[in-house]
Amino acid sequence: MTSDKLPDVPPIGHNLPGEKPLGKKPDQTHIVLSSHPRKGNVSAPEIHWGAATAKERGPVIGSQGNPQQRNVIGVHSGAYGVYRALAIAAGKLSPVHRPDLTNTFPSVDIPPQPQWQGSERIVSIDPWGHLVAAEFRDEIAAGFDIRPTIAITKARIQMPEMQAALASGRIKADGHILLENGDANVVKAAIEPVWYLPGIAKRLGISETQLRRALFEQTGAMFSDLITRHDRKVFLPPIGGITLYIFGDVANLATGKNEIACRVHDECNGSDVFGSDICTCRPYLVHGIEECILSAQRGGSGLIVYNRKEGRALGEVVKFLVYNARKRNPAGDTAAAYFEKTECVAGVQDVRFQDLMPDVFNWLGIKRIDRWISMSNMKFDAMAQHGIEIVKRIPIPDDMIPKDASVEMDAKKAAGYFTDGTSSAAVTSDDLADTKGRGLDKY
Ligand SMILES: [Zn+2]
Repeated sequence: MTSDKLPDVPPIGHNLPGEKPLGKKPDQTHIVLSSHPRKGNVSAPEIHWGAATAKERGPVIGSQGNPQQRNVIGVHSGAYGVYRALAIAAGKLSPVHRPDLTNTFPSVDIPPQPQWQGSERIVSIDPWGHLVAAEFRDEIAAGFDIRPTIAITKARIQMPEMQAALASGRIKADGHILLENGDANVVKAAIEPVWYLPGIAKRLGISETQLRRALFEQTGAMFSDLITRHDRKVFLPPIGGITLYIFGDVANLATGKNEIACRVHDECNGSDVFGSDICTCRPYLVHGIEECILSAQRGGSGLIVYNRKEGRALGEVVKFLVYNARKRNPAGDTAAAYFEKTECVAGVQDVRFQDLMPDVFNWLGIKRIDRWISMSNMKFDAMAQHGIEIVKRIPIPDDMIPKDASVEMDAKKAAGYFTDGTSSAAVTSDDLADTKGRGLDKY
């Protein structure tokens, strides 16, 4: 179906010829809120979070084409839902466009796992999100606008560091996982956030009412349904999602027959994409990918979990303000002031809430990670709390750390982040004043 012929787009809230009504009459000028169930609103399917099958669980419907079908708070596409709204406001997108899902199904199988059942092990993503076109085929054919919240495809990635690693002999090409020119074949999955509010509240140790109130008030009353629709338990938050890059045997992730290497990487655009040398993010990501390739080549799998949580989920503006505060510190950019300056600007050191991070491992059916490429105790502890075993923690080799990033590394080590005792691990608080980064006048 293609219904996005732009010249036919009617004013907002009006329906296209032949499309279902939007819930507003063409001459109606007031805004219809979804705050209260309307009479005759019997067509929205119920969601039974954690039910054993997709049919019993019910579809997640966040699309706006027919408001009577909606059974969640918020809209699809995370933060990009705002751009969708802009496109509709600008008359560039039909408000009742429905996606044509022909041939969009996953490139590999991620089958249902025991961890998908129950309302506690997965609370921040929809485990059926990649399977909706098949599981809800009948409902979609009957006119329900049910959209995938997970998409799985294949890719070939080209990173210059892999060529350097090949040249150095650290890794070797195998012609399938890693090619002679340094390219790597991967399966990748994009995952949008789908929050089961009672489960999120329980994970954070607060009441659902506290959670709903804070989300409502602290987003400038963006979602009134949080307060008025306690019958709606699922929220599609306007935040970034997760991307997975899987190396080697995808089926091995759930069976765990062979080794699994993994890095959980929280976004750092400056380093990950542009190679900024103030932190260790891209080197750590590269190190993680090398370990993933090695595990895959030994018959296992490698997994990179890439979370859109820029600047410890405080955002890039806060992050750059902190960089300036650090670099203008009278004592210089010292490791001693690393966390303190973040707290001065943001009021808190970190809002990534690693408590939600293990959900994606439960979605994949992972019960054990053999090689965990991370020094974060918060990530390690979150995995342990979910009963996912981490066999060996692998820190970044010293020779992969940029010079200016030694401030970050020493601050983290002194704060108790994991080290294996073989590298420049013994950092005490007395040493921290000596580790200095580049001043703002040195660029
Ligand atoms: Zn970084």
